[in-house]
Amino acid sequence: MVTEKEIWVLLEQVKDPEVPVLSVIDLGIVRSVQTQEDKISITITPTYSGCPAMDVISMDIRLKLIEKGYRNVRIQQQLSPAWTTDWMTETGKQKLKAYGIAPPNHKQQFCKEEMFFEEAVQCPRCHSHHTQLISQFASTACKSMYRCLDCKEAFDYFKCH
Ligand SMILES: [Zn+2]
Repeated sequence: MVTEKEIWVLLEQVKDPEVPVLSVIDLGIVRSVQTQEDKISITITPTYSGCPAMDVISMDIRLKLIEKGYRNVRIQQQLSPAWTTDWMTETGKQKLKAYGIAPPNHKQQFCKEEMFFEEAVQCPRCHSHHTQLISQFASTACKSMYRCLDCKEAFDYFKCH
């Protein structure tokens, strides 16, 4: 017998392959965990449809559970409602910032492409809002790159959508 609580605890150990300080719980992508005897069913919502990291995440979840002896695992993706950065936990946002990535700005939750350029993104190092977009795509499609005009550091911003 496995309990849902045990699975949630294990999921906390599964990290986002792109931002390894964030767990799948911090990201807010785990919609539900159901257990029935030895069967485990997990529903996740991809952060970005077509985000290649999602396949890695599904596999990492599976591997983590296998490692703990849970083999009867079903992972399904739920595309609707779509994930929003609002589902990211406060802890997750703090971890992002400590990692040097500007966390998604709440005001940008429903941003449109044109607003994206106007909205000030806060520098995770010196907390200045005096920043400039350098590139829409940073290391991955899920982030964009900014430069702080005060401390002159470049940093990644976790994009809203
Ligand atoms: Zn700065």
